[in-house]
Amino acid sequence: MPSSISTLPSVRDLLSHAVEAVGGAEREGQVRMAEAVAKAIRTGEHLAVQAGTGTGKSLAYLVPAIRYAVEHEATVVVSTATIALQRQLVDRDLPRLAKALKRPLGREPTFAILKGRRNYLCMHRVHTGAPEEPEDTGLFDAFAVSRIGREVKRLHEWSSDTETGDRDELVPGVSEQAWRQVSVTARECLGVARCPVGTDCFAERARGEAGRADVVVTNHALLAIDALQEYQVLPEHDLVVIDEAHELVDRVTSVATSELTTSLISAATRRCGRLIDADIADRLLEAGDGLALVLDDLPPGRMDTLPTPLGGALTVVRDAAHGCLTALGSERKEDIEEATARKLARSLLDEVHDTAVRLLDAFDEDQAHRQDVVWLSGDQYSASPRPPALHVAPLSVGGLLRERVFARSTTVLTSATLALGGAFDTLARQWGLPPSPKPTVKAEGTATDKPAPSDDDGPRWSGLDVGSPFDYRKHGILYVAKHLPPPGRDGLGERTLDEIAELIDAAGGRALGLFSSMRAAKQATEELRDRVKHPILCQGDDSTSLLVSKFADDPRTCLFGTLSLWQGVDVPGPSLQLVIVDRLPFPRPDDPVSSARQRAVEARGGNGFLTVAATHAALLLAQGTGRLHRSVTDKGVVAVLDSRLATARYGGFLRASLPPLWPTHDPKVARDALRRLDAAAPA
Ligand code: SF4
Repeated sequence: MPSSISTLPSVRDLLSHAVEAVGGAEREGQVRMAEAVAKAIRTGEHLAVQAGTGTGKSLAYLVPAIRYAVEHEATVVVSTATIALQRQLVDRDLPRLAKALKRPLGREPTFAILKGRRNYLCMHRVHTGAPEEPEDTGLFDAFAVSRIGREVKRLHEWSSDTETGDRDELVPGVSEQAWRQVSVTARECLGVARCPVGTDCFAERARGEAGRADVVVTNHALLAIDALQEYQVLPEHDLVVIDEAHELVDRVTSVATSELTTSLISAATRRCGRLIDADIADRLLEAGDGLALVLDDLPPGRMDTLPTPLGGALTVVRDAAHGCLTALGSERKEDIEEATARKLARSLLDEVHDTAVRLLDAFDEDQAHRQDVVWLSGDQYSASPRPPALHVAPLSVGGLLRERVFARSTTVLTSATLALGGAFDTLARQWGLPPSPKPTVKAEGTATDKPAPSDDDGPRWSGLDVGSPFDYRKHGILYVAKHLPPPGRDGLGERTLDEIAELIDAAGGRALGLFSSMRAAKQATEELRDRVKHPILCQGDDSTSLLVSKFADDPRTCLFGTLSLWQGVDVPGPSLQLVIVDRLPFPRPDDPVSSARQRAVEARGGNGFLTVAATHAALLLAQGTGRLHRSVTDKGVVAVLDSRLATARYGGFLRASLPPLWPTHDPKVARDALRRLDAAAPA
């Protein structure tokens, strides 16, 4: 990074100024984090910072990042996992910060939001673009077609009102099928030079604004696309801040996962059918039919070997798609309508061809050296049947991140949960960073900013845990029900249900139930609605955001649910004083990606369970536990009803990943504390 003698105020001064302007108080962890980010920018050494809830980590990275951007006329990229954080940065933090820093920096810093092309209205499709055929959208039901027709009409009206064309600004939203008719992927876009309405293009405008801004806020998916593609998606940058970095590996994995279905093949055939020789297109249609017959005979699940009939069917699909692409030819001088149809056809044919190639290649190496895992999903015989789909996902995204993110820009990764088992190494390994030879986190979550020397071949990085301003030991109890039997496969046991009922009664409601499956959440809701006197809401009864706001509004109400609640509930105050976890959130044993990753670690002599399954559980458990303390005054109990947290060998690793709550195994201690809190809470 460029270095020069700066005339701008120091990061510390700018941070004090910003904190004062937004009406906050200086926090030690925030200052240490800001200084560490400034050091990373100066030295080019990557940084992983664990910053507990209440640190004010957004300001701690935005201030040094903005200072760098203004000083060097550079653009910095901030990537988030969730729309909620993206909105918080763009609608709240950045506008206030930009105003506060205007005077000390000599000009008001600028910022912009950038998403994938599919998130913006495509004006070419709105005006003239080929509408999707009902078959392409998978809709044959007349009622659904007319509902989508109404949504598309609404989208056309909205297109003349909206200033950004950003899907997230459309309230209420529309179905995916409707949105697909007015948007394009990057592959389907005609290109601004060729597009007749390129000058009015929302996606191009957003890219232009991003290129001129000091700070570009984006998401992990676009960061992954930028890393995966040869062409540039994000503006030129040499500093990227990855917030909610605990989600990075999952988000990058899902972007790098491909899917092949027979309906994709049919859609590709229809799109190219009008443009090429019918015989060549028919070959692809027949290849799709052949694949459908083979898939019907295969059981869903992970595939460790390529069944011969599937290998044959995929080869035919690959060659037929290649034949169509050759017949389609390269770009030529043609009217815009034909160019649009050709582009849409090519994009689907490329997807079919490239996925078939990748699926076939996935089985080439011996199992220990494979790069990808393949599985078949779908269930045609269930109450809500899903057609078969072949998936191929990377076993590791570390190489991609190391070569295409860490090698290109100084990277700051941050989250409230990064130091699993008390160290950053577990996640660092998944990100493709070398292990740190020394621990970078002291016991009790206090921090050291000693650089973690890296090996000569890997990118240099350091880890820092700035702790949290919350006094966890005084304000929270971790109750582990050691006396309960380990959870079984047949749903929640009677003793577990009794425990939940007693805890809720003691707390006077105020409980968030985090269950490891929807089935368990529903079972608990049904059985406990008659047994406890407080109302219980269950995820799925209504939209999650509505349920969360009902839960927040009435302290006596409880909310039960699964995955999205583990990370997405932010309810400070007396409405949430009890978090109940029914079982440790390990990935399902039949999860194809986790199980294949576990096996790949074992093939290299490592501990697959600890590296993959326990890491997954530790991250979620720490996120779930973090729901309890959302403000400095919050108090309560986290009750884990899975005795393995106390008894299993990996229990210590999981406990060391959690905020340092006061531990107990005594249910009476937990219930008494909840009763006291209930009595002290405002009526
Ligand atoms: S440039 Fe691409 S995304 Fe933009 S309006 Fe044209 S086709 Fe649509």
